Amino acid sequence: MFEKIERVPGDAILGLIEAFKKDTNPQKVDLGVGVYKDDQGNTPIMRAVKEAEALLLKNETTKTYIGSHGAPAYGQAVLPMVLGEGSAVLEAGRASATQSPGGTGALRLAADFIAKQLPGKDVWVSDPTWPNHLGIFPAAGLTLHKYPYVDAENRLDFDGMLGALKQIPEGDVVLLHACCHNPTGFDLSQDQWQQVLEVVRERRLLPLIDFAYQGFGAGLDEDAYGVRLLAENLDEVIITSSCSKNFGIYCERTGCLILVAKDAEQMENVRSQVAIVARENYSNPPAHGGAIVSEILHSAELATIWREELTEMRDRINTLRRDFVEALKPYGLDQKYACVAEQRGMFSYTGLTPDQVDRLRDEFGIYMVRSGRANVAGFSHENLPYLAKAIAAVN
Ligand code: PLP
Repeated sequence: MFEKIERVPGDAILGLIEAFKKDTNPQKVDLGVGVYKDDQGNTPIMRAVKEAEALLLKNETTKTYIGSHGAPAYGQAVLPMVLGEGSAVLEAGRASATQSPGGTGALRLAADFIAKQLPGKDVWVSDPTWPNHLGIFPAAGLTLHKYPYVDAENRLDFDGMLGALKQIPEGDVVLLHACCHNPTGFDLSQDQWQQVLEVVRERRLLPLIDFAYQGFGAGLDEDAYGVRLLAENLDEVIITSSCSKNFGIYCERTGCLILVAKDAEQMENVRSQVAIVARENYSNPPAHGGAIVSEILHSAELATIWREELTEMRDRINTLRRDFVEALKPYGLDQKYACVAEQRGMFSYTGLTPDQVDRLRDEFGIYMVRSGRANVAGFSHENLPYLAKAIAAVN
């Protein structure tokens, strides 16, 4: 039976990791993989997480199933983080939280829910978008379309985006990145979110907001601006939240599918359907990551430590963005790459061409994906002068 099955090439990023490991250049730089790194190139466990885990180890009494929606304490912690303390949406009982295996799991739940409950609705994603979006929705049987997001000059193409949204058939699903757009780093301004809200309302579209980097852009609340604006002003919104990056618990697979409905009654209806989708996929989500998050968010002391650590990560990235552009100044390239300082989150569409990316890898041991997307957390104050010199050499 398996004889005719062809092998497919591995994930491009995984290939990049392998090539990086093998490279013997002592100055090599990894700008490929999508995890946060500190100045030493490590992805450490946050102190708040370690302390929460110590408490869990001491106090946990059972490993029984936690149910298809996950631990209620986790949902109660994530909802105000995403929608805001005292949010009118929460007050009205319009939001449902379902713990999921990572943001990816939440996206797959959303996709299956849409495919089952909203037949005939297509999904629209930004061009470019996180490559996994291109796999998840068709895997659930949905048809995918793209709307423009970046222009030929490597700038946010907001006019193109808005123009395309106005053409989307009524009732279709539009996927928006809440903040820290992956792969480009181009985010919408508050004014642009307002305009998106108007179009979404006018065209009666269903927004699906992917919120994988809350706290990595401008701040926990600032990054939630678009999410909260849409949730408060529309009857129906789907949000997929991830705790992988902001708690640094990538391997614990901790995410949340949030459905906002018109009222509490409709929320309970859609919530019951989400439980079925979760059950059919994996029955119950893994418990540990959610337990860490709720332990932290339900403790004033741990939440303060966590917020400080998150701020440190965010500040480091934003400082490195500015310092990268500074480092290019002596080469007269600061204007050309000024966008890197303006973009937000872990990733940047640098504007480097595939040929330049190849040369950076072959001649300088600098690794990034061929689209020119760099993981800014891979910059360090030690490697910036080398990076600048290499980029100047390929320009
Ligand atoms: N959405 C986007 C845009 C992402 O970049 C990622 C992770 O890279 C995810 C979702 C999923 O994150 P998780 O690791 O929690 O599944």
